[in-house]
Parts: sequence; C-alpha cells; structure tokens
Amino acid sequence: MFGWLRARRRRRWLADPFPLVWEETLRRQVKQAERMPAELMAKWRQRIQVFVRETSWEACRDLNVTDELRVVIAAYATLLVLGFEDEWLGRVRHVLVHPTPYQGRRARIGADGVDYSHGDWMQQLEDDIEDEHLGETWIEGGTVIIVWSEVPTAEHIVPPGTNVVLHEFGHVLHELLSGWFPTARTERGESWLEAFQNEYGRQVRDADRGRRSLLDDYAAESPEEFFCVATECFWERPGRMQSQSPTLFSLLKQCFRGDPTNWMT
Ligand SMILES: [Zn+2]
Repeated sequence: MFGWLRARRRRRWLADPFPLVWEETLRRQVKQAERMPAELMAKWRQRIQVFVRETSWEACRDLNVTDELRVVIAAYATLLVLGFEDEWLGRVRHVLVHPTPYQGRRARIGADGVDYSHGDWMQQLEDDIEDEHLGETWIEGGTVIIVWSEVPTAEHIVPPGTNVVLHEFGHVLHELLSGWFPTARTERGESWLEAFQNEYGRQVRDADRGRRSLLDDYAAESPEEFFCVATECFWERPGRMQSQSPTLFSLLKQCFRGDPTNWMT
C-alpha cells in the first residue's frame, strides 16, 4: 500500500478513543499493563489500535477470533517496539491463531535446497521432521502463527518466563534489526554483537554440560533463537534476568530502548 494512504488511515484510527472493553482486556489479561507509566501506556494503546486493525486475523479449528484475542496478541507484539519511534510492525500482515499446539513439519526445503515434501523416503523421514509447534514466523509472507493456549493470560498458565507471542515477534524484530543492532559499546568495551555472541556461547556451553540456566535449552539452538527466548524472559521476568544475567539484560535493554524493571515487579 502507498505510504501516504497507510499513514492517513492510521491517523484516522488513532483519532478514535481506545475502546473501553480493550482497556479492560489489557488490564485483566496482560500483566505488563498493571504498572506501566501513563506516557508509555498511551503510546502502547496507539500501537495496539493500529496493529489490531491493520492485521488480518484468522483462527483455526473451533477457535473464534475475538477482540480479546486480538488485543492480547497485539499488546505483546507491540510491547517489543514501544521503545522505537516509528515502528508499527507493518511487515506482519496476517496472524493465524491455533487453539492448541499443532503438529507441523519442519522446513520442507532442506538447507541443501532440496524440496523434501515429496518422494517415497518421505515416510521414513516423517518421525524426524514432525514436531509440535507453538508458533511460527514467515517473514517473507508477513505471517505469524500463534497457539492461543500458550499465550499468557489470566486463564492460561504457561511456564514462567515464556511467551509465544514475544518469541515469534522476536523473530520479526530480529529481522527488522539486522544490520542496525545497537552500535554502542558495552561496559566491557565490546560491541553489542560481540557481547551478544559471548552470551550465546555461554548458553550453548551450559546446555552441553546439562547445567540449568535462566533460559530454556531451546535458546542454544541458534543465535536467533537465543535472541527470541531471551526476549521472552526480558519482558516476562525482567527482575530475574537483571539479577541472574546482568550482561544479557543490559544488552537487551539497549536493543529494546527501555527497561521494564522500572515498572514491573
Ligand atoms: Zn523461534
């Protein structure tokens, strides 16, 4: 869409008051809203308002797309870009919501470029490639898939520090940030990327040694997954991350241009 048309449409939406029932959803279902300062809250409502309306929403099986579902997912997604001046996550055009975890296949096109979707050997590979999914991100097509039962709300109990929306939109942000991760030097004088790689290396070593760490073992999968798992923890358990992984916390603080410990207990 033409930029000016989109901007005009956004201005129109932003002129509407934030619906009262959305406000109630936010207060009841999203714990990050409990103590957020008024100024940041005002910015957050704007991002939610635009994201809910600009995105096409679809639900699978017997799930209905309700305003509550849209507002909760939009709230977590846009939390990640609250520190950014003019980022509205417009690259994401569709959000597909599954009610519960679903069986899916891992990438059908292998790293070797071969399409593994057909062929007699497909059956033999089945066990290897079938996996339970909680979410997926397809940046190229502008689609994010979310499992609703795994989204933390007052009704959904999920493992502490996890949040599938923050994780999947972490992938979106990772893509947006590539090339312009913070350039500031860290306290130890390293570049942001160098320090981040060091933290990732620590995570891999901990996973290899079977040592418990703050983040789920899945974080050792790749630097990008490490970023996404750490993103979940940063916004869900900022105090815990600050005390247990202060370097990683400060790196993410630079990245998100904000510090949730200021308003989250
Ligand atoms: Zn991931």
